[in-house]
Amino acid sequence: AVISTAIVALVAIIATLDATGPVIMATTTAEDRMLLLQTFLACQLLISLPVASILEDRASQAANALHREQTLRSEAEKARRQAELANRKLSIAAARDDLTGLFTRTRIIQKLEKLIERHADKDTPLTVAIFDIDHFKMVNDRFGHIAGDEVLRAIGQIARDAMPRRFEIGRIGGEEFMLLLPGQAVETAAGYAEQLRLAVMTLSGQQAQCGVTISVGMTEARMGDTVKTMMRAADLALYAAKSSGRNQLKRAA
Ligand code: GH3
Ligand code: MG
Ligand code: MG
Repeated sequence: AVISTAIVALVAIIATLDATGPVIMATTTAEDRMLLLQTFLACQLLISLPVASILEDRASQAANALHREQTLRSEAEKARRQAELANRKLSIAAARDDLTGLFTRTRIIQKLEKLIERHADKDTPLTVAIFDIDHFKMVNDRFGHIAGDEVLRAIGQIARDAMPRRFEIGRIGGEEFMLLLPGQAVETAAGYAEQLRLAVMTLSGQQAQCGVTISVGMTEARMGDTVKTMMRAADLALYAAKSSGRNQLKRAA
């Protein structure tokens, strides 16, 4: 607006002084011409003032909108980061079984899947053990569900204490657990599982009266094994341990 007013004023002054502008058509004397030119310039100024003020308003509105957009963007980014953090916390929480603090079924199976991949790539041994509390229904029936829960919790703790940290333990069912022994062939893994079985038998305190034992089924990963085939083999071995009298360990055939 300022530049256009200045251009029009400049052209009008030059044209009027040069006597080529339209002003000479309306007047005869030089004073009249100057007066008319001044009136024209004053009108021009009066017209451009509201335009300039509107433009000024628009500019400040645009600046405000930009500022608001930036604020909203940063708030959205903050909310996104908070949601991400909450999700991460949620998935960490979901990775653990509430009662025992061991990995959940989903998480331990994910871990097994990764270990099977590593076993296939690097050809390091991997053994999987599934163990199940013997006659656990009887524990519940005789001592009540709360005592049963205490036994489950105690067994989770025993398994954590008795096994090296590099082994992963999860609760895959009511009173059924899965132990992953990466780097262990079934012969050495059996030593660890036996250690666990004996540790469960030494359950102290209130739980001792329940006389809890576990049966264990084990299998070592072979080429082409999957989560499904390994869990099935360990399950079959567990079934064999149960039918051979419980409180013992069996390897997959
Ligand atoms: P087996 O030696 O053949 O494994 O016999 P079992 O009695 O242990 O097996 P069964 O499958 O007959 O019963 C399992 C019991 O485990 C039944 C169920 O009430 C109990 N159970 C499962 N989940 C929980 C739990 O979270 N808390 C308690 N207290 N009991 C549970
Ligand atoms: Mg059982
Ligand atoms: Mg069971």
